[in-house]
Amino acid sequence: MVNFLRQLENPRMNYEVFFEVFRDFRKGGLNPENFSDFISTCKALPPITKRTPSDYSIFDKFELTDITEVEFPSIMREVIRRGIEKSKFCWHPEASATNCNVDHNDKIVVSAAHSIQNNGVLSKIVDNGHVMGYAMEKGEFDGKELGKNHASIFWGFCNKHDAIFRPIEVQPYTQTSEQNFLFAYRGFVVSSHKKIEVSTWMNFGEQSDKDISENKKIFDAAILTNDYTVIETEVFKLPAFYPIAVSSSFYLDFDFECKAIPHSEERMEDIFITLYPVDNKTYFMLSYFSKDKHLYGDLGNQLRKRENLKSDITMLVAAHTENVYFNPLYYKTFIEQYEKLLKLILFHTQMDHATIDDDNNINVNFSFTPSNYLDNPYGINFFGY
Ligand SMILES: [Zn+2]
Repeated sequence: MVNFLRQLENPRMNYEVFFEVFRDFRKGGLNPENFSDFISTCKALPPITKRTPSDYSIFDKFELTDITEVEFPSIMREVIRRGIEKSKFCWHPEASATNCNVDHNDKIVVSAAHSIQNNGVLSKIVDNGHVMGYAMEKGEFDGKELGKNHASIFWGFCNKHDAIFRPIEVQPYTQTSEQNFLFAYRGFVVSSHKKIEVSTWMNFGEQSDKDISENKKIFDAAILTNDYTVIETEVFKLPAFYPIAVSSSFYLDFDFECKAIPHSEERMEDIFITLYPVDNKTYFMLSYFSKDKHLYGDLGNQLRKRENLKSDITMLVAAHTENVYFNPLYYKTFIEQYEKLLKLILFHTQMDHATIDDDNNINVNFSFTPSNYLDNPYGINFFGY
């Protein structure tokens, strides 16, 4: 059995998307001539739970070959690129061919939007035009230098509707409810957009789509009525400039007192976080929907009571988001030493574990997140001075 057929045993993978790239790159023995026969053969396999190695003999006729370690990264890059390409759309509630920026075919032109203020924040943390970001790729932790203008870009707004962020792009931050709302909204859109891109090749299940669309409805209604009270924001200030920028959203399973946070089936209740250095201070904004106050309302109190803000922010960021950018020298001096631990934490908190039934459906999800992880048993500190 060639190595890439193992993908067929992972119900989380949309194997067809990978195999389409194999076909187009003429890798692994796949090509346009044998492709549809190959896919039908994949679908003819018994359910994953009942499969034995000999079932794979039905592939013998294709004369497949292993994908090498040299070939795999370029295939993966193409899978990711196609996911980004397929997922370009404008998030604005009034997005349509009449309201958005369109080309001569009336097709919406989605432009590269910044998930972090470009000139407001990124320009303050660059070194020779570069910032440092990191990501988990193929299970490997990868810290890398990025051009400022390519850092943190996502394809989620047309040019016209991108202007919704002007109050946080061009106006100084004065903690208005509109600004706090927009920071939270940007965190939501950035994280959700990334998830939609990845869901072209990874199967997160229907619940994930539902979570995004239900949360989007709340933001959309608020944007259309300028009702910024749907978002509650706790603003914290660190008394120094730290060249780190974060914009993200995610949910918490546990609070800072290790209490489990129960979530509903209707909609995943997310929090939205922003880390934003300006002049001689760094703001940390923690936002959630007002209607989720029963779940997250105490987080702010806990943060204040603990008086351990640097560690607490570090853990919220380290465990939950990859949309984080550092000044390169700062990264080398203060962050690089934690790379192994960051990988471990991301693995614990980002990976779900599941069982599958006889129809290849993913059934029981459980997570390996330790209930005390926010206490930072690893001793990581993103704030080096
Ligand atoms: Zn638009």
